[in-house]
Amino acid sequence: MKVIVVSGGVISGLGKGITTSSLGRLLKARGIPVTILKIDPYLNVDAGTMNPYQHGEVFVLDDGTEADLDLGNYERFLGQSLVGTHNLTTGKIYRAVIEKERRGDYLGNTVQIIPHVTGEIKRTIREVCQAAGADVILVEVGGTVGDIESMPFLEALRELSYELGEGHMAFVHTTLVPVVGPVGEAKTKPTQHSVRELRAIGIRPNLIIARGPAPLSPDIKAKISLFCDVPPEAVISVPDQPVIYEVPLVLEAQGVGTLLTKLLGLPDRPPDFAAWKEFLTTYRRGERPIEVAIVGKYTELRDAYLSHSEAFHHCQGHLGIDIRLQWYDSEDIPRNPSLLSRLERSDAVLVPGGFGARGVEGKVRAIGLARTNGIPYLGVCYGFQMAAVEFARDVLELPRANTTEVEPETPDPVVCLLEEQKDVSGLGGTMRLGAQRVVLTPGSKVAAVYGKTEIWERHRHRYEINPAYLERFARAGLVVTGRSVDGRVEVFEAPSHPFFVGVQYHPEFLSRPESPHPLYLALVRAALARKEVAHPVAAPSALA
Ligand code: GLN
Repeated sequence: MKVIVVSGGVISGLGKGITTSSLGRLLKARGIPVTILKIDPYLNVDAGTMNPYQHGEVFVLDDGTEADLDLGNYERFLGQSLVGTHNLTTGKIYRAVIEKERRGDYLGNTVQIIPHVTGEIKRTIREVCQAAGADVILVEVGGTVGDIESMPFLEALRELSYELGEGHMAFVHTTLVPVVGPVGEAKTKPTQHSVRELRAIGIRPNLIIARGPAPLSPDIKAKISLFCDVPPEAVISVPDQPVIYEVPLVLEAQGVGTLLTKLLGLPDRPPDFAAWKEFLTTYRRGERPIEVAIVGKYTELRDAYLSHSEAFHHCQGHLGIDIRLQWYDSEDIPRNPSLLSRLERSDAVLVPGGFGARGVEGKVRAIGLARTNGIPYLGVCYGFQMAAVEFARDVLELPRANTTEVEPETPDPVVCLLEEQKDVSGLGGTMRLGAQRVVLTPGSKVAAVYGKTEIWERHRHRYEINPAYLERFARAGLVVTGRSVDGRVEVFEAPSHPFFVGVQYHPEFLSRPESPHPLYLALVRAALARKEVAHPVAAPSALA
């Protein structure tokens, strides 16, 4: 087993997840089997109960684990699906240690951070690498070096490097090199301090990844090299990029792939970046602008809808058009008419998942606007359930139709609690979660979009479309075209609309740069087709 540890210094939010994913991609491009593990040093067992405002999107894995959003980055950059063991939290580690203690596994010993907690951490890393069949495991340590919370993890990694011996482990430290003052001077002091902090706990970084607004000059690289005891060629500059998928190539251009293989004694075959480069070339083309409205209640923090924006980036890299995302706070919509008129000019509308009553009326308004104006619409999870509410109110003329999540006593519960959820009391990990099989109706729009009638998609919900209303929906033009194997409504569409599709599951979690999700592609294509009709361009588009 070879291990690459990625730690962070100075501040959080430096794109450590993107760095880690990109390093993984460098190895994968050389044909080396690789996997990634994220350590989140908080006490939550998983991210499922965390507010998106604090922590960004909750990413759902095939096995139903509600994970940190970096797992989404790993899946997208590596092009491989991960399972819940790849997101390790302090909560999980302590739970395992305490369960062992209660069982009597420690045979009368005093149970301590060192060696028991650190031992559990090391055991898990080995197990995850082995189960993934990887030669190399990248371990990203969440938080910033110096945090009390991450100490046991860094200590475990230091111990592991000693146990594995020379040439088995590489430490990559990501830091910020801020540019300050009127002449824009790059400052290395924060990096020096954070490397000193790392060395104080016995870890000497092999590679420093310096983040910042601009590329580092050779003399700044030399300065960091001198103060931090890292060769100059191992000080890597990663300035902000227009799109995150550039990062692997930025690293490769500075020789990071070769550096890592040398450090770990791995074969340094020439990397294959052909498909990746093609994606970026198409992405940069950015030929025709379309505006996609995303209407949600966490729009102030873009990370809350990360997988949606990435799915649109994937479409851009596939179609060569310029997809502009316009974020609408659904709470503002009912009280701000100018937002509605702007929304009306959008080329497509997407309402993502969500929970609770806040902002739902704005989502309903936005959906109504898309439906009645023929604007392509994709409703995901709550955006699917709200489309049922909107349709029931406006078309079936049931003005008080609602989901029982918002109004438990509604006379028309078009969305209601899943049967098996009725006895559930705890919030952690108790929804209908993870990959489930969905069967699509042959001849439907969605079946054409997917090019097949059996799909697997990831879920995260407690409520479902109430089957009692389906017949009325169908008669009025909203038809169920996808069901789970046990008969739940998974997809509906309005055949008379250019593109009006709602899905109970979360397609955004499966979109990848090399294979954009078909539903996002279809939404974007429908938007383009509609725009083409409204404003035909001289040259025929190559996008058909
Ligand atoms: N709140 C809805 C439910 O629990 C939708 C969930 C979601 O959008 N992820 O069913």
